[in-house]
Amino acid sequence: MMTEKYFYPRIKPIYPLYRLNEGEFRIGAQLGITAEFGDPNGQLWALANLLDGRSFPKIINEMQQKFPELSERDIIKGVSILEQEGFVEEKNLPFEEEISERYKANVNYFSHFSDSKANRFEYQKRLNESTVLLLGLGGGGSNILTLLAGIGVKKVIIVDYDKVEESNLGRKLLYAEEDMGRYKTEAAMDAFQRITSQIEIEGHVKKIQSSDDVSKFLEGVDLVICAIDEPPFTAQRIVNKAIVKANIPCVFGASQVSRGRVFTVIPKQTGCFDCLNLKYSMNDPQFLEQFIGFRNVNFTPPTIAYAPAIFQLTAAIVDEAVRIITHYARPKSLGTQYEVDYEEGTSFTHPSWERYSEECPTCGEGNVEDWEIFKYYENYNTKRKP
Ligand SMILES: [Zn+2]
Repeated sequence: MMTEKYFYPRIKPIYPLYRLNEGEFRIGAQLGITAEFGDPNGQLWALANLLDGRSFPKIINEMQQKFPELSERDIIKGVSILEQEGFVEEKNLPFEEEISERYKANVNYFSHFSDSKANRFEYQKRLNESTVLLLGLGGGGSNILTLLAGIGVKKVIIVDYDKVEESNLGRKLLYAEEDMGRYKTEAAMDAFQRITSQIEIEGHVKKIQSSDDVSKFLEGVDLVICAIDEPPFTAQRIVNKAIVKANIPCVFGASQVSRGRVFTVIPKQTGCFDCLNLKYSMNDPQFLEQFIGFRNVNFTPPTIAYAPAIFQLTAAIVDEAVRIITHYARPKSLGTQYEVDYEEGTSFTHPSWERYSEECPTCGEGNVEDWEIFKYYENYNTKRKP
């Protein structure tokens, strides 16, 4: 019942409420989230205007003074009409006091997605209590770190082995000129601490070369973001193995030429990176020869990370991480690859892949020797040109 749900109902402050003419009004102004209400006798308009966070008994009382013919039931029905469109929320909710002012915009954003039962502050609280391990502080990772500062997690652990070079400055905007020659982890920690003192940061200078290199950083971690792609594919495979073993979700991101991809592995729930290898092995007759051909040329592309493009990808990665931590909306890249097209400013998802719980050697009961593809991952080593 309405009265049980709401004590101080209001129209979500992110939406405008305005009249079109005597008999019609609107809530919302954005295409897709605007509703028009026909209201010949002005009752619904009056009610909508009273939904400003005052108490429910007060609303009933004031409505009945204006319109004595309305019963309490009628008024509750009116609120339901507005609520069905997703415009009503409870003003006073638990956790509000715990949430820092700096995250207010996040909470307002979440309010668009929350129905009457969800608590927009709780989404932020989940972020504020989570620890994220970020692997790689290159074009992707350095910008992801900046976004994590704004999103407001509890703690970030960063791992990278490289130093800041002049060629980084065009796209890794976390670093300044005076950071050149410093380890990226050190420069990133300083920059991060200038942005926020509310988030703990821990940095490690370390090159990830094996699953054990990842495992040692996983204690207490709620989510991993993999922003390393060197050596290509092998890096993801190493990280995948560690996160599956530790049962911690991981968002993977990698940029290509004019597109970037995001996919997420939730161990034992979604297909893992090796399940994807299995899917291609089973379904794509050219997969193996393509992989071997690519590997044999030892292709080492110069970086093509153009900042406006890489920002589109990193935004998608961090939003996906937030979806997984908070559940404010459905993640887009579970068991599928979510692809961002920088050129067109569009996105799409690839056909999904399943978890092969019997065949996968990493997240299932399978044997690695049964799949030819995995032997081509061994000893794959390239170094990207600056
Ligand atoms: Zn698997």
